[in-house]
Amino acid sequence: MKFLAQTLSLLVCFTFFTSQAQDLTLHGTLTRANHQTYVELPFTVPTGISRISVDFSYTGRELHTTIDLGLFDSERFRGWSGGNKHAFTVSESDATPSYLPGPIRPGTWKLILGVPNLREGVTSTYEAHIHLSRATDIPSGSTFSAAPLRSGPAWYRGDLHMHDAHSDGSCQSQAGQKVPCPLYKTVEAATARGLDFIAISDHNTTSHFDAMQELQPYFDRLLLIPAREITTFDGHANVFGPTAFIDFRLTSPSVPDLNHLLDQVESLHGLISINHPSQPTGEACMGCGWSVPNTDYRRIPAIEAVNGNNAETRISGIPFWQARLNEGLRITAIGGSDNHNAEAPPASNVGHPTTVVYAKELSETSILNAIRAGHVFIDTEGTKDRTIGITAQANATTAIMGDSIKAPAGQTVHFTLHMLHLEGAHPEIIEDGEPTTLLASSPITGPDAEKSFDLPSDGKHHWLRVNIRSNTGTLLLVGNPIYLNLLTLR
Ligand SMILES: [Zn+2]
Ligand SMILES: [Zn+2]
Repeated sequence: MKFLAQTLSLLVCFTFFTSQAQDLTLHGTLTRANHQTYVELPFTVPTGISRISVDFSYTGRELHTTIDLGLFDSERFRGWSGGNKHAFTVSESDATPSYLPGPIRPGTWKLILGVPNLREGVTSTYEAHIHLSRATDIPSGSTFSAAPLRSGPAWYRGDLHMHDAHSDGSCQSQAGQKVPCPLYKTVEAATARGLDFIAISDHNTTSHFDAMQELQPYFDRLLLIPAREITTFDGHANVFGPTAFIDFRLTSPSVPDLNHLLDQVESLHGLISINHPSQPTGEACMGCGWSVPNTDYRRIPAIEAVNGNNAETRISGIPFWQARLNEGLRITAIGGSDNHNAEAPPASNVGHPTTVVYAKELSETSILNAIRAGHVFIDTEGTKDRTIGITAQANATTAIMGDSIKAPAGQTVHFTLHMLHLEGAHPEIIEDGEPTTLLASSPITGPDAEKSFDLPSDGKHHWLRVNIRSNTGTLLLVGNPIYLNLLTLR
């Protein structure tokens, strides 16, 4: 094995994109002198970096030049992908297969180029783009996919709450034993249900992200969103987006109160949602209901209003959510199956309920931003096609679900409902938490229906949303509100 330190033809260029994120490019040339040697390309990793992503290219493939790739951190070997990958990422929790997740220690790291073949007389030019990011950088795109999985605005359907072997998800082994259920089973179940995205939310851990990193390139129609269920003695809440550790030990010296927890979530640009807030808490399920003292709901962007099939049970999260809306807050209702067995029968299966999100594209930031914006309804039965869109018009302004619209006293607000695949069902208009007679006894005819009504504004703050119920009264869809004259926007 021959090593050749290459210094003369190596150039390092730095690009600072923001005050935090940093890119650098290593480029240079290789010749026959490098044939069957290993070339070390050192680069400096500053303190506070949480993820390193490398994109490598070189010339001369048509002349059978081959350059392999590997990585050493400041202390140890971090992986070898040979000639099988031109791009990879490593972070504390996850890494591209061939590479090892683990701490991103500051110091001198080395990209290793192996040169199995470089012909006499041939010069190969290489370039390695290295992106160094911090956990506090504003995210763009998706953690596990370089490109959006689908482009264009649409209603995207997903499940935001599920468990697997990395927490208490279980299923039957080959021999029929109850065993921790491998994460891929959850992903397969979501695929079979035709979902567009899932957030896998194991309890407090970050160990499932490495499996998600491996699965995403294969499941390239199903967006995998990193999540965890922050599980405390006083309540559960999902955090979507970050992969860095969040100290969940509420009431311990490190996290004395909820604000310390929310500070962590916000610094990592995570989206937090209180889970199953109205469940009873006690020895059967400690901390399952939300009982965190002095919760500042202005810092809570989402609530899991429907958990599994609880939409109309006494433990439904809908009344809890609506009570917050009646306090003048703008909080998005979402749903989650809380699936703990990817092979469970359909009634408790993945995608039941489905959270349906109107997003600009199928990427993590677009989905999470659309949830923050409230462009969301919940399909309690997790169908593939039931859809409710609602718009409000006042003067020349139009609002959709989740938006706020200004309407001075005396102004008429014109609402339009657009409903797909809901024949025989009927809308139920909720204003400030109470069902109204608007559009009462007005069944939906046809697979593509529109209904509208006018509401005179009194100039005060109100919120108005739509449920869709079946002809037997079953709650099918739970819409998020349009807010009238909302004073504070998150
Ligand atoms: Zn829970
Ligand atoms: Zn859960």
